[in-house]
Amino acid sequence: MDLYKRIKKEDKVIYKAIAGEWERQADGLELIPSENYTSPAVMEAMGSILTNKYSEGYPNRRYYGGNEFIDQIETEAIERTKKIFGVPFANVQPYSGSPANLAVYVAICKPGDAVMGLNLPDGGHLTHGWKYSATALFYKSIPYHVREDGRIDMEEVRKLAHEHKPKLIWVGATAYPYLYDYKSFMEIADEVGAFVAADIAHVAGLIVAGAHPSPAAHAHIITTTTHKTLRGPRGGIIMTTARGIAKDAELAQRIDKAIIPGLQGGPHNHQTAAIAIALKEAATPAFKSYGKQIVRNAKALAESLKKNGLKLVSGGTENHLLLLDLVPVFGPGGGHFASDALEIAGMTANKNTIPKDPGSAFYPSGVRLGTPALTTRGMKEAEMKKVGEWVARAIQEAHKYRLPTETKDRPAYLEKAKKELKRNTNLKKIRQEVRIFCKKYPLPHLART
Ligand SMILES: *Cc1c(COP(=O)(O)O)cnc(C)c1O
Repeated sequence: MDLYKRIKKEDKVIYKAIAGEWERQADGLELIPSENYTSPAVMEAMGSILTNKYSEGYPNRRYYGGNEFIDQIETEAIERTKKIFGVPFANVQPYSGSPANLAVYVAICKPGDAVMGLNLPDGGHLTHGWKYSATALFYKSIPYHVREDGRIDMEEVRKLAHEHKPKLIWVGATAYPYLYDYKSFMEIADEVGAFVAADIAHVAGLIVAGAHPSPAAHAHIITTTTHKTLRGPRGGIIMTTARGIAKDAELAQRIDKAIIPGLQGGPHNHQTAAIAIALKEAATPAFKSYGKQIVRNAKALAESLKKNGLKLVSGGTENHLLLLDLVPVFGPGGGHFASDALEIAGMTANKNTIPKDPGSAFYPSGVRLGTPALTTRGMKEAEMKKVGEWVARAIQEAHKYRLPTETKDRPAYLEKAKKELKRNTNLKKIRQEVRIFCKKYPLPHLART
């Protein structure tokens, strides 16, 4: 860990934690679909002197002096975004995906305006109007849902849109294994005069690779994170499409103003440079193959999980993520047991709600898995077969647990279950197999020392 030798010298506490995290990332299987391993060049930019500079404003329109080089960097990031996604306007300053989304509300809605988004327990994101999010506190949130089969209920979307006349309709999610039907959303929005914002946080890299349809022709606004399938640093981007500008000639300016002075101060210039580098990487043929492989791997993982006796929402996947329906294993609310068993066995995943979840948002009945990070490590279909077996074996080790019906009994029960799982020798055995396997697929980052 030569890379962090200055931290090692100056701050032992933080150094030890970083070293621990390094080992965790290198020796385990990352199955969280929103995570990835970014490139060494992106890392370098994140650790660069650019973090020292203030540059409130936009290229050639700054409140501070000394921004000649920062302007070059931000302009490059904007131009690369426009080219790669085929849009006429981009703002690359959002600190992350959530502030990017909030800026969209600020740009086009007044407090109290009706907005629509996919309900969080149905796979939607917090910022699409979940009841505890600022987006529901300040705007009138009308959630839409998925049908029994897990697909978005477009009939309900149309009915709610006509009933509530929303200003803004979100399309995008965090736990949705199907492709998005951007065109149908656009048609409904046109019927009621709403703006459509496509939130492609999860699928941006797939879109760039041609492994998922692009919303560029069927949305007014596109928002994305830069750190999920796009494989850049943490960050956010807001794009305005030609369609958006045709609907509101001032839309791009409104979005710029919503970011600053509306919501943010100085941009994170180190992050902007890292985003620019990630976009250059994403424009290569190698990235196209990467994006296509993510989807092939997800399909292979789905097959392996099913072959090993697990049930998937929708029976499979059309993108990079899978939702395990664990009701057949644990009854309602067993997501915790599965994610604990997986973690102990060296696989990181997150518990998640499934459509019509018989558990709750806090005690969901599913687990969400994805292949972007494993694909970055160079794994292919054959490796996914193995990963599926390990996942199934680990979950099997926890199968006897049942979530207590009394809410107050749950924390203690979960703690006890986790303690027992930690002592489980079969899980320890899987952990060891996973560790050995991972050595063959080093992180794209600098060699371990
Ligand atoms: C991850 C995600 C976001 C938020 O991104 P953060 O960077 O975590 O703020 C927004 N929308 C969707 C659909 C996401 O998946």
